[in-house]
Amino acid sequence: MLSVQEAEKLIFDAVQAIKEIEIVKLEDCRDRILAASISSKLDFPHWDNSAMDGYAVRFEDVQAPVTLEIIEEIPAGYQPRKTIQPGQAARILTGSMMPNGADTIVMQEETNREGDRVLILTPPRDRGMFVRYQGAYRKAGDALLAPRIVLKAPEIAILAAAQCVEIPVFRRPRVAILSTGSELVSPNQPLQPGQIVDSNQYALEALVAEMGAEVIAIGIIQDDPNALETAIAQAIQSADVVISSGGVSVGDYDYVDRILEKLGAKIQIRAIAVKPGKPLTFATFANSTLYFGLPGNPASALVTFWRFAQPAIRKRAGLNWELKFVNAITTEDLKSDGKRELYLWGYVAIENHQLQFTPAGGSRLSGNLINLAGTNALGVMEIGETAIQGGSTVKVLLVRL
Ligand code: AMP
Ligand code: MG
Repeated sequence: MLSVQEAEKLIFDAVQAIKEIEIVKLEDCRDRILAASISSKLDFPHWDNSAMDGYAVRFEDVQAPVTLEIIEEIPAGYQPRKTIQPGQAARILTGSMMPNGADTIVMQEETNREGDRVLILTPPRDRGMFVRYQGAYRKAGDALLAPRIVLKAPEIAILAAAQCVEIPVFRRPRVAILSTGSELVSPNQPLQPGQIVDSNQYALEALVAEMGAEVIAIGIIQDDPNALETAIAQAIQSADVVISSGGVSVGDYDYVDRILEKLGAKIQIRAIAVKPGKPLTFATFANSTLYFGLPGNPASALVTFWRFAQPAIRKRAGLNWELKFVNAITTEDLKSDGKRELYLWGYVAIENHQLQFTPAGGSRLSGNLINLAGTNALGVMEIGETAIQGGSTVKVLLVRL
């Protein structure tokens, strides 16, 4: 049985970021990863403009309170036609283009307008005040965005401003998801005694979709070696990552590992000293597809997904995949038998400027999915650690990124 650290090294060493590039429209680029440097043909700002509502003046005209003649109104979007001569000014609004001849803006609050004349009450401190100069933020041709940045609202604003409407991004990982077990039924099927509703399929699809990966939903496959082999073989062909739940334990109907071997997989992990989630299969294929065989118990499936599969998929996608461990104060006593690294699902919240961890209430058995609601973090207890007192510090893995 591998330690968590040995297992994660094997997993993350086996994962490479996708390098294929595709073009998406600006309106579809949110959360995608930029695949090339973006530059603009124009300077930013594109032309000298005013940072204030006020008056465009010649600095040397306004060294003392003075009245100037207004020769033009320059609203936003208007190109000034006149040149400011000595004794003249132009009315100007925020963002509007500077007229020729003027070099300084006097803000409206420092003036008094009388018809087509304006009284400058307070001389501006410096030449160029409240002028945003062409190219002051970035010059034409210089990079605005570097490759590998994740496109969120600020980056999308920059792309839009640069009129970049077709964006090169890395292809998203395709993640195939299947549930194994002859006892499983879909949520919309009538439940017979002894059957179990397939919840893992939906939870895993949601987790994968949340990460921005593409979901290939395969659904329930019976504990039948032929059916499983067909389904897994197809999944491996079509996906970057295949995630199954169930069938990786030592039960009579746990076929996944045998089928993976038959299909030519290199099985790198069969068991990890972690709780929940001891039986966990990780395998790689020659075509670089990764296979995670997660345990079937709902809490085990989720915890092992968060701990191992989520960062692996993030690395495959080209995202920052570093696990986010933080210290938090536990609100309750935490206990472990100390034999395996224990992950307690629960939630962290900020209380009095401090992170606080509250473990899920009720039964913490891995078959109990009911108390998973609200989980955003996993409290970690190392091997050998048997008790952490309420009010003291616990290491916590943030799982909602
Ligand atoms: P297994 O790992 O296949 O031995 O499954 C362990 C336990 O998890 C069994 O009680 C299964 O019925 C349950 N289980 C397996 N797959 C799922 C699933 N997709 N949804 C909910 N429970 C499951
Ligand atoms: Mg099973």
